Amino acid sequence: MEKGYNTKPKEYILSFLKNHKNKRFSVKEMYDSIIGEGYNINLATIYRNVNTLENEGVLLRHQGNDTNYCTYQYVENSDCLAHFHFECIKCGKVSHLGAKETNDFLRLIKNKLYFTVEPQNTYIRGLCNQCKGVFIGI
Ligand SMILES: [Zn+2]
Ligand SMILES: [Zn+2]
Repeated sequence: MEKGYNTKPKEYILSFLKNHKNKRFSVKEMYDSIIGEGYNINLATIYRNVNTLENEGVLLRHQGNDTNYCTYQYVENSDCLAHFHFECIKCGKVSHLGAKETNDFLRLIKNKLYFTVEPQNTYIRGLCNQCKGVFIGI
């Protein structure tokens, strides 16, 4: 899709998140990046469109501990609502855990701790292989 000045905000936001589907963004981060790309948009427009896209099931919303802070990730397929995601604390890359592994893990937690985890709301944070390599090199 062409990303010119005539692109509608909703289309622009969606293509931005699609182009960065291995990361999640807060509205502020989206705003900074999109403005950085030279597209004219304001925060309120991003909030409004992101809400619409979330309701359409296109974006996965993650609520942070601070109620004012949440992030959005483009949902490649509906599986993203049912599996865990790993997020690198250094580069921000998001990886998807397979359905089977997620279910095995959920069953384990349920049996051991009687705790029901919400996969769509869980990001397991650590270092990706690439970033670990950098640390080892130092
Ligand atoms: Zn996923
Ligand atoms: Zn990384």
